[in-house]
Amino acid sequence: MKSLLAVKNPLADTTEQLRILEENVSWVRFDDKLDKAEQFPLRATGIETLQVNVGRLCNQTCGHCHVDAGPDRKEIMPREIFEHCLRVLDDSDIHTVDITGGAPELNPDFYWFVEECRRRGLHVMDRCNLTILLTRPHEKLAEFLANHQVEIIASLPYFQAKQTDAQRGEGVFEKSIEALRLLNAFGYGTNESLRLHLVYNPAGAFMAPNQSAMRDKYARVLKQEYGVVFNDLYCITNMPIGRFLDFLVTSGNYEDYMTALVNAFNPAAARGVMCRSLISVDWQGFLYDCDFNQMLDLKVDHGMPKHISQWHPSLNTREIVTRNHCYGCTAGAGSSCGGTVA
Ligand code: SF4
Ligand code: SF4
Repeated sequence: MKSLLAVKNPLADTTEQLRILEENVSWVRFDDKLDKAEQFPLRATGIETLQVNVGRLCNQTCGHCHVDAGPDRKEIMPREIFEHCLRVLDDSDIHTVDITGGAPELNPDFYWFVEECRRRGLHVMDRCNLTILLTRPHEKLAEFLANHQVEIIASLPYFQAKQTDAQRGEGVFEKSIEALRLLNAFGYGTNESLRLHLVYNPAGAFMAPNQSAMRDKYARVLKQEYGVVFNDLYCITNMPIGRFLDFLVTSGNYEDYMTALVNAFNPAAARGVMCRSLISVDWQGFLYDCDFNQMLDLKVDHGMPKHISQWHPSLNTREIVTRNHCYGCTAGAGSSCGGTVA
């Protein structure tokens, strides 16, 4: 499988994605829905997390990837932008650095950046696809992450091979189990300071089930059948952007999926959306309210500085840029990079 960009799919262009999401829609617009719930505009309440997307290069090409990442993507954050990030971290109250990609570990500066963040006493999270832990030259990655007490958030769309491989590629489940055993061997999932969380996302055009029930199922099956342990499970709604949007449109599920998200709008989930306490930076240093807005090229707005080199404390209480894809964060129990929010 190749990225949308590599096969010149029109949806590789973010204006085309936004056209589908915004033009001639049959449902009430997200901003109007928020307004009715007396929550428009959404506003940040202080930035606790800097989410750093270090590039779109990945060793996998998963079917539902909102980043449209893959081995054919060459965007990689250069050292200069990492240094801007460190300057912001030095000058602000941000306490958590959430590193994502692509496969973030494929950025040659990943190891250095983790060391710099930990040296500053910051909490570091790595959004790890698991299979990268088994590839060369990353054989010592698991040990490195453990030595630096990096919290790991790892995608495992299901606790069975069939569903996981269908979404992430042939053989990915088996490799993921091997990688999880490796992490367990270094103390992940059992040692209090080595937290390992898994991420479930639906295999098709439906919403995620109850998070705690799904956690119990994952825990039971992974322990009994594979001897694997982990801390939490995050259930994440598939956002109607990137390759999942392509899937929705080509499979004829787009209208029904969006209608289901809109009908499940939950004001309590809207109050807890992650953009209120997080800001996202892309490989070139541009700033976004979240990784989803980043993938739609919706930069921070409303008079805010748009590049990390122009950082200003007013970003802490900025007005957030919202569009119809935001329904993905506010349906049912809500969805964020840390699972449900309501
Ligand atoms: S979902 Fe994650 S592992 Fe899969 S292609 Fe996208 S970035 Fe890579
Ligand atoms: S998509 Fe981003 S901006 Fe929209 S509600 Fe979710 S986190 Fe906030």
